[in-house]
Amino acid sequence: MAVTDTFVNTKAQPSTADTIQHTGDAKKEHRGGEHSMLAPFTAGWQMKAGVPLVIERGEGVYVWDNKGNKYVDALAGLWCTALGFSEKRLVAAAEKQLNTLPFYHNFWNRTTQPALDLAEQLVDLFTASKMSKVFFCNSGSEANDTQVKLVWYYNNALGRPNKKKFIARQKSYHGSTLVSASLTGLPSLQNGFDLPVSFVLHTDCPHYWRYHLPGESEEDFATRLAENLEKLILKEGPETIAAFIGEPVMGAGGVMPPPKTYWDKVQPILKKYDILLIADEVVCAFGRLGTMFGCDYYGIKPDLVSVAKALSSAYQPIGAVFVSQEIFDAIAKFSDGYGAFGHGFTYSGHPVPCAVSLEALKIYKEIDICAQVNKVIPPFQTGLRQLEKSSIVGEVRGVGLVCAIEFAADKETCEAFPAKWAVGTHFAGQCASRGMLVRVAGDIIMMSPPLIISPSEVDFMVKTAMAAVVETEKYVA
Ligand code: PLP
Repeated sequence: MAVTDTFVNTKAQPSTADTIQHTGDAKKEHRGGEHSMLAPFTAGWQMKAGVPLVIERGEGVYVWDNKGNKYVDALAGLWCTALGFSEKRLVAAAEKQLNTLPFYHNFWNRTTQPALDLAEQLVDLFTASKMSKVFFCNSGSEANDTQVKLVWYYNNALGRPNKKKFIARQKSYHGSTLVSASLTGLPSLQNGFDLPVSFVLHTDCPHYWRYHLPGESEEDFATRLAENLEKLILKEGPETIAAFIGEPVMGAGGVMPPPKTYWDKVQPILKKYDILLIADEVVCAFGRLGTMFGCDYYGIKPDLVSVAKALSSAYQPIGAVFVSQEIFDAIAKFSDGYGAFGHGFTYSGHPVPCAVSLEALKIYKEIDICAQVNKVIPPFQTGLRQLEKSSIVGEVRGVGLVCAIEFAADKETCEAFPAKWAVGTHFAGQCASRGMLVRVAGDIIMMSPPLIISPSEVDFMVKTAMAAVVETEKYVA
């Protein structure tokens, strides 16, 4: 491996940033290290001095950097390239649509066939609860911002102007726009931005390993969290709470599958107080858990759903919101009074991402994506769980094709290593030097590979992670 992932002392750096610094000739190509991009989720010092890893091409589950180094991309880009990096049919679908009609909008009752077809297919595909309409946008963040506007509009339509607050969960991830960053339960998205906005409340993070009380079972932990949710609703006044938003499995906040019975206990409470349930399926949808949606896996029956990412396998930007009949009916009637439903984007239902998404759905069906994922879940989950034998790994957790490895100085107390040791970064550097890119967030490592990954590629991931842990053990010793 020519790439050198040098350990960077993060003493003075925010621990949430990925701190692998790539050194070498690439520096020359980037004006002495400083490039012209205000880069998302990148620290200032990295934009000024850190040489970015420039990814040049991809094939299957692999990407290559501009130095010719090959990596398994263990996070599938950003949890999104479900069909890998070289699905020619998606490219062909985009090309065909670009040659036929590169753009038309969906405003004022004008539309295109790809948008109509995709909406219809999505309504049919989601069976956990009955959906009626699909609103298109460009990303997961826009989908969740749209959710808030829809819910407010709906409650105004029903003459409930005070029912406007949202409950999300600590450590959730719902996006980075003004409102979606407020729903997100991670301080790093809110610090310095005067967020969260005041109508968003955060309830407990359902992470059993870190937050359960001594002797508390998973079921009892779920009961306690559901009771805390009810207490919060009663404290605020149920007539003020509009909706609860949750990822079926929390993803970017550190991969936290809910404790057993969590969703069974939370849903009746929401029903009891007439609070809408929004499932943020941006990571889970389209097979990641071995079911078509995360809602199918956990028996969640939402009123509204957000999807993005694997909808087009990330080959084109697109997000969508699924809306129940009841909510649509209220919105439609209310909009008549205003002369229009005044929400939408130039690129809502853009025909090119819609055509690509239609092809992605066709491929998911043809290859039976859930069966494919279920084949590789056991070696992926059991393989990575072996890392828990290491004295420096506090927990390996996950479900389906999502997994997190969390380092801990003390397994019992969940005590972290000193942040300045940057243990997660060291591990990620060891993985990169062996040909695997992982997501680092402090001392949590996240993996969510393309869904088309083969058993032998999973084996490579597991072996690479094990070798990197051995090196990391030496590093902290
Ligand atoms: N919701 C979830 C669950 C996500 O994981 C993400 C992104 O990772 C988003 C929303 C935001 O999506 P986007 O980055 O497309 O705005």
